[in-house]
Amino acid sequence: MTEMIHRSNTRPVKVGNLTIGGSNELFIQSMTTTKTHDVEATVAEIKRLQEAGVQIVRVACPDERAAYSIGAIKEQIDIPLVVDIHFNYKLALIAIEQGADKIRINPGNIGKQAKVEAVVNAAKAKGIPIRIGVNAGSLEKKILEKYGYPTADGMVESALHHIKILEDLDFHDIIVSLKASDVNLAIEAYKKAAAAFDYPLHLGITESGTLFTGSIKSSAGLGALLSAGIGNTMRVSLSADPVQEVKVARELLKVFGLSSNAATLISCPTCGRIEIDLISIANEVEEYISTIKAPIKVAVLGCAVNGPGEAREADIGIAGARGEGLLFMHGKTVRKVPEETMVDELKVEIDKLAEEYFEK
Ligand code: SF4
Repeated sequence: MTEMIHRSNTRPVKVGNLTIGGSNELFIQSMTTTKTHDVEATVAEIKRLQEAGVQIVRVACPDERAAYSIGAIKEQIDIPLVVDIHFNYKLALIAIEQGADKIRINPGNIGKQAKVEAVVNAAKAKGIPIRIGVNAGSLEKKILEKYGYPTADGMVESALHHIKILEDLDFHDIIVSLKASDVNLAIEAYKKAAAAFDYPLHLGITESGTLFTGSIKSSAGLGALLSAGIGNTMRVSLSADPVQEVKVARELLKVFGLSSNAATLISCPTCGRIEIDLISIANEVEEYISTIKAPIKVAVLGCAVNGPGEAREADIGIAGARGEGLLFMHGKTVRKVPEETMVDELKVEIDKLAEEYFEK
């Protein structure tokens, strides 16, 4: 049962104003798609992501222009900023000096020891963590030769190799990811990692696909890990607008009861008893509650036959009746509402409940 307690049993690591691991909640992360040196576009995208519920954002840092933009981006946002660097220690040093809240770089790929030490010392001086990003597609040659192909053991061995480099320099603010596009491989690697060390884990299924297929693939892989109690931060990777990544991540956290700041929709699949245009109503209500930051459950049901009782766990809901709707709370009908105004009335009641939640 090592896995069951890994999430809360990890070493707390500070990333900006958040602490990852320990007894803290799992945070949603995403990555911008803009050119990082285009500060205006990058900040605009980060704001959109934040509106959708992202809590930590990562930017790519492929060159000095990007690295020197970090400070300007940081000034305009208020969530932790992670800077993603491959190999180049100079970029890491610039990003750290510019105020990065965390850098993603694999110490084993930096090169000479002096360069590794320079990066580690700079991170230490600023009190920021380093994320080690193991990827099944780019394992070290030595490990690939040993295992023949990417395996979970090989991925964990790679992670431990990078961890040791940092630990030998007395650096322990470490976060680790072990991404793979093969879902079973990723699940196995994360489970083995959770049993092997107590550094926080950043979850992700890489190159998972488009909005539809990628959401399913990510949910399958990440869901298995979340239900096993693994994961301290999470990114759903999609070939889509990153706002969609955040929306999918939020839904996934809600499924596992890991989100305390989002409303949930319960809607029936419809059947021959349906009395209202449920599908469009469900979509409208889902869109409406997507920005509600209170853990309210809202139900939308096609008819009242099994309606309110079926959704007893909902805080509020509507069930269709001929030409009208029944507004109900906790399984009990409150009043009838005309079909034309029922969605608007539901929205008003949702807002009231959200306000009450925050007044508590
Ligand atoms: Fe059918 Fe009514 Fe159940 Fe929806 S709530 S699935 S319409 S019986």
